Amino acid sequence: KEEKALNFIEEIVEEDIRAGKHAGRVLTRFPPEPNGYLHIGHAKSICLNFGLANRYGGGTNLRFDDTNPVTEDTEYVESIKYDVRWLGFNWVNELYASDYFEQLYAFAVDLIKKGLAYVDDSTAEEIAALKGTPTEPGTNSPYRNRSVEENLDLFERMRRGEFAEGSRVLRAKVDMASPNMHLRDPLMYRIKFAHHHRTGDAWCIYPMYDFAHGQSDSIETITHSICTLEFIPHRPLYDWFIEKLDIFPSRQYEFARLNLTYTVMSKRKLLQLVNEKHVSGWNDPRMPTISGMRRRGYTPESIRNFCDRIGVAKRENLIDVGLLEFFVREDLNKKAQRRMVVLDPLKVVITNFPEGQTEVCYSENNPEEPATGSREVPFTRELYIEREDFMENPPKKYFRLAPGQQVRLKSAYIITCDEVLKDANGDVTEVHCSYVENSKSGQDTSGINVKGTLHWVSATQAVPVEIRLYDRLFKVEDPSSEEGDFKTYINSDSLEVITGYAEPALQGTEPDESFQFLRKGYFCADIDSSPDKPVFNRTVTLRDTWAK
Ligand code: ATP
Ligand code: MG
Ligand code: MG
Repeated sequence: KEEKALNFIEEIVEEDIRAGKHAGRVLTRFPPEPNGYLHIGHAKSICLNFGLANRYGGGTNLRFDDTNPVTEDTEYVESIKYDVRWLGFNWVNELYASDYFEQLYAFAVDLIKKGLAYVDDSTAEEIAALKGTPTEPGTNSPYRNRSVEENLDLFERMRRGEFAEGSRVLRAKVDMASPNMHLRDPLMYRIKFAHHHRTGDAWCIYPMYDFAHGQSDSIETITHSICTLEFIPHRPLYDWFIEKLDIFPSRQYEFARLNLTYTVMSKRKLLQLVNEKHVSGWNDPRMPTISGMRRRGYTPESIRNFCDRIGVAKRENLIDVGLLEFFVREDLNKKAQRRMVVLDPLKVVITNFPEGQTEVCYSENNPEEPATGSREVPFTRELYIEREDFMENPPKKYFRLAPGQQVRLKSAYIITCDEVLKDANGDVTEVHCSYVENSKSGQDTSGINVKGTLHWVSATQAVPVEIRLYDRLFKVEDPSSEEGDFKTYINSDSLEVITGYAEPALQGTEPDESFQFLRKGYFCADIDSSPDKPVFNRTVTLRDTWAK
């Protein structure tokens, strides 16, 4: 495989290593907020952070950014750990920003003592009103010049729970005239009488993102803290806190978040889809979550290869979901065994084949992996083929079944269509065919050349299976950029449930097993599957290969 050019973050890391920064050590972190399930955008960040560490002999911390007690939950923590491991990565430390609450409090006290933080009694509205605009400087709060002693006393009493929610905040004293709004005395702590999923009721003041994230990086001695582009304007504040506290100098680098066509990616929106029951849950196979994609039949390799291919950009863009589908096809083509399943049956009677008799045919499990051998497929007098594989009045160059035409049944015989039976409405009910006795696959001496090969099953031995056909969850390419509520663009036909007829080898399939249903696509046994009632999710269709 040819060596890919370094991306801009790898260039930075290599330059740091060359310069001997941090003695060549590389430590990254993946910092999810446990307020939802991970999605494909997170997978990109995971691949980037863990990939860098792997490449440069470093490590990656899994840090739960759990500083907002209201939206977080241990259910999410567990799912995140499961998903990161499933993607194929191991963290060196499992950490929680909430474990740093005491240390962060001490940092805040340190800044107060240095005259760089103050307690503000203004309301949120008053603070906003004095903030100014990007073109107009802000105005100093009347509480900005409180003495260190008074600030220390008030901050301690904030912690003790003496003040009501919203009545006071701790702010950094930076610069109310800065052109960067994030430097206009940003909030560091707010009062919140909320139960935290880990610290319980121990705290009633919680640090803001900007005062928690960089300090957590520094506490862990993270060398390269990688986040998405919207944090660029936060970087000066990230650096300011580290400089004023004189702590380990982690550095922040930004890359473009992943956006995919026909989906939404924000956890807030995904949570709405779940809560309002537009989908069956976070792991609905239509969701762009890792758990949904796993249930849909995506493999970790396909997701990693996708993330690798799209690379890291410095500009937002919208990636075609078709690229993701390409990578899962590519991976499953190598791994998935082939089976025959008819989704929309049309009965075929082989009039010259004896009733009650079964002939065993052998079909290869995976032409890409000859070592997987072959399986038995029963051939009988009554068969099913796909209704769309028959046409009574076909156009030219139609190589499937039609009156008087011949096709090969995969791994079995060449058949000739002799007669078409119809009901009172004129709809075709069955077709009568004859098979060419010396044309069996692998021992064909008929000399007949046919252009079409069809998949089929024995009508008398097929197993009915539930099949869930998924389509895109949204009707438009970029639902988030359209006018109005993104939910108006939900595709109401994104799930169709049908009964298919599977060859007997699919009886007893275990959940999670993936197959290529010949000519139909890749399908994965759902978690709702049981050995006597298989349920399959369509992962992705094949490209049109019917003539193959
Ligand atoms: P969302 O906007 O979906 O809620 P978030 O950024 O709030 O996402 P976090 O749990 O804070 O979610 O994200 C953890 C890490 O994953 C962060 O470093 C974040 O930058 C990264 N991340 C989140 N969404 C994407 C995305 N679409 N593309 C790339 N990285 C992402
Ligand atoms: Mg978020
Ligand atoms: Mg976040």
